[in-house]
Amino acid sequence: MIDVEKIRQDFPMFKNHVKMHDHDLVYLDNNATTLKPQCVADAVYGYLTEYTSNAERGDYDLSHIVDTKFEGAREDVRRFIGAKDKRELIFTAGSTDSLNMVAYGYALHHLKEGDEILLSLAEHASNTLPWFDVAKMTGAKIKYIDLDEKGAITIENVKKAITDKTKIIALAIVTNVMGYVIPIHEITALAHKQNIVVVCDGAQSVPHIKTDVVADDIDFLAFSGHKMCGPTGIGVLYGKMALLEDMKPVRYGGGSNARYEADGELSLKSIPYRFESGTPNIEGVIGLGAAACYLESIGIENIHAYEIELRKYAIEKLKQVDKVELYNPEATGAIAMNIKGVFSQDASSLFNTYGIAVRAGNHCAKILKDFLHVNATVRASLYFYNTKEDIDTFVEVCKKGDDFLD
Ligand code: PLP
Repeated sequence: MIDVEKIRQDFPMFKNHVKMHDHDLVYLDNNATTLKPQCVADAVYGYLTEYTSNAERGDYDLSHIVDTKFEGAREDVRRFIGAKDKRELIFTAGSTDSLNMVAYGYALHHLKEGDEILLSLAEHASNTLPWFDVAKMTGAKIKYIDLDEKGAITIENVKKAITDKTKIIALAIVTNVMGYVIPIHEITALAHKQNIVVVCDGAQSVPHIKTDVVADDIDFLAFSGHKMCGPTGIGVLYGKMALLEDMKPVRYGGGSNARYEADGELSLKSIPYRFESGTPNIEGVIGLGAAACYLESIGIENIHAYEIELRKYAIEKLKQVDKVELYNPEATGAIAMNIKGVFSQDASSLFNTYGIAVRAGNHCAKILKDFLHVNATVRASLYFYNTKEDIDTFVEVCKKGDDFLD
């Protein structure tokens, strides 16, 4: 399955024994960003040192190398998410950028007063705030699909929330705090019977579970390179071709137009180039392609199975620590918890002194408090390079109740 010790050798931060407070790093903040393997660093370095030039513009040899690598990366990422056609993948700055692109480029031009957009209280700000704004601009209404008692989305609750005014359902396939996987296949089947467009935030799912946009009939999918071992500042918006044909660019400029005249007449380039104005993040794209190939070489199913096993191990151990309050023991994504009576940020500072990186706070899911009734949590998020020893170290520090209260 997964040879974690071998895998860790692929990551310079483990290979070089990066430390915090003299402890070997225990990196449990993978929902914030992931560590990068050597092959991604090499791909980026190659572009920066061997064939730097702009993409999709030049007529000389170096620029042809860049064009080939750039479009090769689009193909690698297409394969990774199971899209039919690489033209359905637009390179963006990340999930936030992709979701804004759908909200302002598509929804803004299709919604009218009284239409309904369905979200959940567990969404990240990037899948909430663009919709709030577009709702204000169009007169559409935001409604929430109820979370069940565990904090998950069920198909029954989606059914209950849909009305004949629902036009868009925007949900994370895996939310960044509660960590449950939504029944995406059933949601799209239900939504499409009523011509509802399903926008998926894949920031926390694409890196961890098999994505197949065709099998799941996903309309739009947003995800970020840096959460799947790739560079920061690069991401993807996948959209079905028919929907992209009906979407407007949110940015205009060089690279996206075929021709324009002084009187304002404009013809845009074909999809996806019309949505990629300006010099793209070329090293980011090339690094993301390398990351997709790397994850593919390990196998996303292997990654998922390993993470499930590791999470189970962590939950069993954490359940034995009285001081730990767990909010989502049955989920598969991040572990959301608190040390009883300890402010989450104080807890994460103590974890830091033992070399452990976790995140504390509201994790950009600021309306989740209306469900969870806690403002801040400690979030430990795993990836396939974490080990049972990482979990043991984390659990041992959780037990240090007296230190937390000092
Ligand atoms: N959606 C979810 C569920 C996330 O976890 C995040 C980042 O944490 C985002 C969207 C935004 O991703 P980015 O900051 O890469 O744009």
